[in-house]
Amino acid sequence: MGASFSNTDFSGQTLKLGDRVTWAIYAHCGECAFCRDGLPQKCVQLFKYGHEAVSDTGEGSSGGMASYIMLKSGTPILKLPDTIRDHSATPINCAVATAAAMIRESDCKLDAHSVLLVMGGGYAGLSAVALAKKQGCGRVLVFETNMELHKRCLEFGADEVFVPGDQAAIECLNKWTHQRGVDLVLELAGSTDAAQLGLDQLRTGGCLILAGTVFPSPPLRIDPDQIVRRCLTIKGSHNYRPEDLITATRFMCDTQDKLPWGRLVGGVFSLEDCNEAIQFAKDHPGQRAILQMC
Ligand SMILES: [Zn+2]
Repeated sequence: MGASFSNTDFSGQTLKLGDRVTWAIYAHCGECAFCRDGLPQKCVQLFKYGHEAVSDTGEGSSGGMASYIMLKSGTPILKLPDTIRDHSATPINCAVATAAAMIRESDCKLDAHSVLLVMGGGYAGLSAVALAKKQGCGRVLVFETNMELHKRCLEFGADEVFVPGDQAAIECLNKWTHQRGVDLVLELAGSTDAAQLGLDQLRTGGCLILAGTVFPSPPLRIDPDQIVRRCLTIKGSHNYRPEDLITATRFMCDTQDKLPWGRLVGGVFSLEDCNEAIQFAKDHPGQRAILQMC
């Protein structure tokens, strides 16, 4: 039964039984003020997969730790290219799409002269580094507190990696920008200190995109006078639009054999061993635990 249906994904590709797909982290109505304004992830009827409270009856159960999942109406579904491997596709609809959204939200035209500062070398931070480099960004510096993760930042395209507080990083940025300051800062470390450090490195006309601080955090020190006189842009970016899912999918398809994505996966676990997987993720910051359903 059903009076309204479609066999195409949101990009217009025909779907057939057996196709592999990815989907946005949310379902949205497509009609409310937020949806019409390009913020479907803030829809008044928003449903977020893996974020809803689960009742005793199982209502709200919607996460990926399951053999099957029922997608709600209003979920942007995207057919995956045949060439993309399952493990490569896994992070597309979270970390990679989020990084793609941040760069899009910045409105920065990244080119050979651009200097980008990425706060945090986790999955989304690495995605941002690699995406920016692929878009032609001249220089990328990453601040990452965990020195064990520095090498992989370089492997994903960062030109330099430093621990926050290292004066050599500031000297490096000053040298790259001739004391001008960086064009764009992407905050993915999830701390006010990181956001502050990034904000303080912006050039006149520069842009700070915040995405990591998704919980109540201490306030930033911002002098409104500086925002005005230096024409700064400070913008929040939470989740992403469907178009970012397309960008992320194409990017992953292009880079799955060129970048060491596989090394970000620390272990593959069966659904029955999900507790082990959770413990592994806790014990190995910066490494992903993948649950294999079949
Ligand atoms: Zn809506």
